[in-house]
Amino acid sequence: MINTNHRIEFDPEKCVGCQICYKSCFVDVIRWDAEAKRPIFKYVEDCEHCFLCMALCKKEAITVVPNYGSEHMLQNFDKYR
Ligand code: SF4
Ligand code: SF4
Repeated sequence: MINTNHRIEFDPEKCVGCQICYKSCFVDVIRWDAEAKRPIFKYVEDCEHCFLCMALCKKEAITVVPNYGSEHMLQNFDKYR
């Protein structure tokens, strides 16, 4: 596993359980806790840093904090060059 030091911060107090972040994540980093009606952030190291979840959350409950110096991040940049 690559250690990215990548973080996704989530504030459950702001979240209204709309599922938009869950539906927007194309790599399944965001799962859904049906009981709590809140997103679960799993396998954060697989995050592709698209910022869609953060951009679409109308309650500003999510902050994606990439580590731009990480090996994983640099590999992603190389992929799209
Ligand atoms: S988009 Fe925001 S408000 Fe909606 S479930 Fe995700 S974190 Fe909660
Ligand atoms: S930034 Fe993109 S890939 Fe990462 S958790 Fe959010 S939606 Fe998923």
